[in-house]
Amino acid sequence: MKPGETFRANLAGAHWRVLVWGPCAHGNVLVVGVTSDEERLDRTCPIQPKELPGLDHESFVHYGDAKIGPASGLQRALDTNQVVPGQPVTDDILRRIVDGFSESRHARPRYDEFAHGRCACDRRSSS
Ligand SMILES: [Zn+2]
Repeated sequence: MKPGETFRANLAGAHWRVLVWGPCAHGNVLVVGVTSDEERLDRTCPIQPKELPGLDHESFVHYGDAKIGPASGLQRALDTNQVVPGQPVTDDILRRIVDGFSESRHARPRYDEFAHGRCACDRRSSS
């Protein structure tokens, strides 16, 4: 499991998700979805259909919905076919997605740090 890999729930119409960074030393990964849903529009980082096979039309990285969670949970979902893998994005696109964490007003600072390789898992262990 490494940055740039893509996957989505094994359901019709499920959004693609991109592994942005991880696993960190604590086994966590940062994952963000790509969506074209109007009500969620965050235009910081557009993704074109040719950049992510399986995308139907221009979409946007949904920074407000990024999640940090255990890589083991994602791996289990892949192993049990609840989640299916897609084609990895290129390094260039991955860099744009990472940069967007600094630019998007929807991205939480903690996630911006994680996207740049600075996790804060140990600081959150009590919560
Ligand atoms: Zn960590």
